[in-house]
Amino acid sequence: MSSRTSDVLVVGGGIIGLVTAWRAAQRGLTAAVVDPEPGGGAAQVAAGMLAAVTELHYGEQTLLGLNLASAHRYPAFAAELTELTGHDLGYRRCGTLAVALDADDRAHLRELHALQRQSGLESEWLSGRECRRLEPMLAPGVRGGLRVDGDHQIDPRRLTRALLVACERAGVLFHRTWARRLRVVRDRAAGVTTTDGAELAADQVVLAAGSLSGRLEGVPEALLPPVRPVKGQVLRLTVPQRHAPFLSRTVRAVVRGSHVYLVPRESGELVIGATSEELGWDTTVTAGGVYELLRDAHELVPGITELPLTETRAGLRPGSPDNAPLLGPTDLPGLLLATGHYRNGVLLTPVTGDALAHALTTGELPEAARPFTPGRFLKSVEQPA
Ligand SMILES: Cc1cc2nc3c(=O)[nH]c(=O)nc-3n(C[C@H](O)[C@H](O)[C@H](O)COP(=O)(O)OP(=O)(O)OC[C@H]3O[C@@H](n4cnc5c(N)ncnc54)[C@H](O)[C@@H]3O)c2cc1C
Repeated sequence: MSSRTSDVLVVGGGIIGLVTAWRAAQRGLTAAVVDPEPGGGAAQVAAGMLAAVTELHYGEQTLLGLNLASAHRYPAFAAELTELTGHDLGYRRCGTLAVALDADDRAHLRELHALQRQSGLESEWLSGRECRRLEPMLAPGVRGGLRVDGDHQIDPRRLTRALLVACERAGVLFHRTWARRLRVVRDRAAGVTTTDGAELAADQVVLAAGSLSGRLEGVPEALLPPVRPVKGQVLRLTVPQRHAPFLSRTVRAVVRGSHVYLVPRESGELVIGATSEELGWDTTVTAGGVYELLRDAHELVPGITELPLTETRAGLRPGSPDNAPLLGPTDLPGLLLATGHYRNGVLLTPVTGDALAHALTTGELPEAARPFTPGRFLKSVEQPA
């Protein structure tokens, strides 16, 4: 069985696949997405922090450039999607407060502050008292913190819904099934075979299958992206009207070596995340995970124990060896990658859509995305003698 050829077939309809298909269709390409459940994936779990500055880590300065480029695009990106679809994305320019609970955390935050300043980023050191003045629900033990007004948030579930509508409006075709195997015809990616035996033909194939991107059959072994699942458990609480405003911005900290954050939405939802576990494709919510998140969040904001716990869920971040995405053409003509976005996939959605649409129409990545070519990990395919 064969269906008509599209210009672009995107394998995976998470936020990265959807934004790629939408932007490609906007540039006049016929685009299709294959995924049994488009709009599922990690974004259904993610907190949606747009945290280029507070997520800065040593050794990730190159990624910082891409994160900032994407953060810069967010206001226009969100406005465009909302205007097109009528969906409010919950984009909130609320800022972030990263706090320290003990002397070690404080020293760590001071170092982060120095790194942020060396990198030309805006962040302000506050005393414990100043932190509590900003966020009165913080524990009395907070020793100090970094105020970063430029780190915002979006609701990833709303973003996903809007991207689905935008794709449909742009004429993107959805095949609700699994891609089983990449089809390679005359040394070129030419589509996929699905698990129900259909052949989906395309001039170009974008592999955007999140943490499963390294498992598509038929991709030459040397080109399989080195992406692995990194499990994150997340809790959702509800702030009743009588407790509002509970927190006015995202609050985060490192408690006993684990990252914890509280992301307050305008709807009253309070997202608490996230564990980081290397356990393969397991998405079980565990008592230990929930306990640790509540324990650490409670140390930061004791009042959370009053709030209804409305949801617990685990998702898989698509991790790469350098924590940065793999974007653009591979050594197999017609095969492109858009994967490995790890803990910044929501933040990186706008820049990824633009970079992939550019690559699909011109064959090249734009300047900002060039350091993230798959070639930095992948060995070239042996050419026949
Ligand atoms: C707990 C947690 C918290 C997070 N918090 C943040 C945050 O605050 N800020 C931020 O920027 N990012 C955050 N992220 C990261 C972000 O959610 C991810 O980077 C992003 O959602 C990855 O999107 P994706 O489309 O690449 O992959 P996925 O969401 O994994 O989607 C991949 C899709 O591909 C499909 N698929 C897989 N294999 C096939 C196949 N063979 N055929 C067809 N379809 C296939 C799947 O069904 C799925 O729908 C978080 C992630 C987690 C788990």
